[in-house]
Amino acid sequence: MDSFIKSQMCVFRHGNFSLDLCHPDSVSKPLVYQTRAFATENSGSNFSIISSSFWLNELEFNFSIQHNLHKGNNMKKNTTALVRKANKALVLTTIKDNEPITLEDVLKITNLSRPTAHTIIKELMDDKLVYKHGYAESSGGRMPILYCFNATAHYAIGVDFEFPPVRLIISDLKGKLIHSKGWVFSRNVSKEKVIDDLLHGIEEIIIDSGISKEKFIGIGVGLPGIIDYEKGLSKNIERIANWHNVNIKEILQKRLELPVYIRNDVHLLGLIEKELYQGVNMSNFIYIGIRAGTGMAIFINDTFFKGMMGNAGFLGHTIVESEGPNCTCGNKGCLETYTSELAIVRRYLEAANLGFSEENDNLSVSDIIEKANENDPLAIEILESSGQYLGIAISNLIKILEIPTVIIGGLVDTKKQIFLNSVIQEANKNLLNYSIDTPFIIKGSLTHESFALGGCLLVIDNFNKAPFLRVHI
Ligand SMILES: [Zn+2]
Repeated sequence: MDSFIKSQMCVFRHGNFSLDLCHPDSVSKPLVYQTRAFATENSGSNFSIISSSFWLNELEFNFSIQHNLHKGNNMKKNTTALVRKANKALVLTTIKDNEPITLEDVLKITNLSRPTAHTIIKELMDDKLVYKHGYAESSGGRMPILYCFNATAHYAIGVDFEFPPVRLIISDLKGKLIHSKGWVFSRNVSKEKVIDDLLHGIEEIIIDSGISKEKFIGIGVGLPGIIDYEKGLSKNIERIANWHNVNIKEILQKRLELPVYIRNDVHLLGLIEKELYQGVNMSNFIYIGIRAGTGMAIFINDTFFKGMMGNAGFLGHTIVESEGPNCTCGNKGCLETYTSELAIVRRYLEAANLGFSEENDNLSVSDIIEKANENDPLAIEILESSGQYLGIAISNLIKILEIPTVIIGGLVDTKKQIFLNSVIQEANKNLLNYSIDTPFIIKGSLTHESFALGGCLLVIDNFNKAPFLRVHI
């Protein structure tokens, strides 16, 4: 598949079928590739030629051509419907990314025929997703109509279920934050109470926003722990007692009657960082989220690597000290027993011989960073040694993946950046004489308020999604 991205044209063959995919220079969205597909007539079936522009928005194509090859005329019917749907997504994305835009410019960008594009724009206006917005200057003749994308036609709900903190966001179709709320659970809360509060929280944010329920297109949830994203299952969150095989998707869908999508929480944070960072090559990068736990998203060729069930990047539970502190996962010396926000607080309290108490229970990682900024030697020592452990993990990752850009998000380590500097120093030390000897390690730009935006982006991405084609090669 790599060769497909890098070359202008590839030919995939399976039996007596061939498909030519052109990758034009005018790719505007990283996850979306404009292609022109031709399926050639072959002797083994009634398969007809399809020749049309359409979007493929991942590197795997989700529609089995081989399967349909043997269905004769159904292939043509299925393909026509798919291409129409894909073309609609193509025109919508084009208007969204280039508004205000004339029909002429839509034609230039999409290569669609005038009648097709004209019909689609009319349909999109009927759907209230596109509206007319004045006229462009005329180069002789009638002034062309300008079209805009209606970002407030629908809304998405994003949930960042970090736990103990939970954050909710409502965004419009361009990911603009409209409304947000959040709360922090107490440490010993029951599973039932967590679910109940989450359902109430989402119902409340819908009511508080004043937006009618019909305008919402879905809920995107970022979850820690182990998930099965296709089944919508939160298999395990160690920080919540008895939290095993909770079908978050089913629970939310049943009560709120909206489509629900789940992903690893840190994968979604990485997705927002990718949207936010400008001027940095973000096709390939590693995102590490220092939160209640420690997670990671690996972006390769503009998309994050999900893994089989959506758990790739379980960095926090890689073991760095075989006789280290007990981890919630049952092992000892996992990375996050040194680097997570909860671990940094715990290490500080242990080193100061304080232990958890009602008073110290409220001590947060921000308090420890503040102490370090005020030259508290113990706070500095804890942040530096936690940073060292992460620096070791990052240098190992860079040696495995040869990706030089690393974004560290979550931990708000501003001012003196003691933690971040320690990470960089340790990683650089361990990468001497390696192909990447000075990695580009930077701080994430997300604030706590924007953490749940990734869930909104997930919903919007599904809403805009064009049909897929899966090609077996
Ligand atoms: Zn662990």
